[in-house]
Amino acid sequence: MTIFEKIINKEIPADIVYENEWVLGFRDIAPQAPVHVLFIPKKPVENFLEASLEEGLMDRLFSAIYEFVEQAGLNREQIRLVTNCGALAGQSVFHFHVHLLSGRNFSWPPG
Ligand code: AMP
Repeated sequence: MTIFEKIINKEIPADIVYENEWVLGFRDIAPQAPVHVLFIPKKPVENFLEASLEEGLMDRLFSAIYEFVEQAGLNREQIRLVTNCGALAGQSVFHFHVHLLSGRNFSWPPG
């Protein structure tokens, strides 16, 4: 079981900012921007590739992100979404998650 499943099960604390039946959003413990929220499906799938095979999962996840963006009143000109797929791409928790970053300007390319 990954640490994110423990957060879903409320076995360990997290700063939860969004929740519905399928999706949880909580603040990253090591924020890289003033707003840094991780959106995860409650169903444990390992990464972007596995998640893509699950009917409806991506729709629900991105709809949740959209709702949060609206609710939080984020600047629509200053949003970055990131998902690292695989250890070589920087993935460290093997439960699919999308990083939502906002509240500052961003540069490209990423490291
Ligand atoms: P990644 O490296 O793309 O797999 O992202 C994993 C993210 O999870 C990192 O940005 C970590 O800072 C974050 N993280 C790890 N443990 C926790 C936790 N207990 N609560 C919130 N965020 C966490």
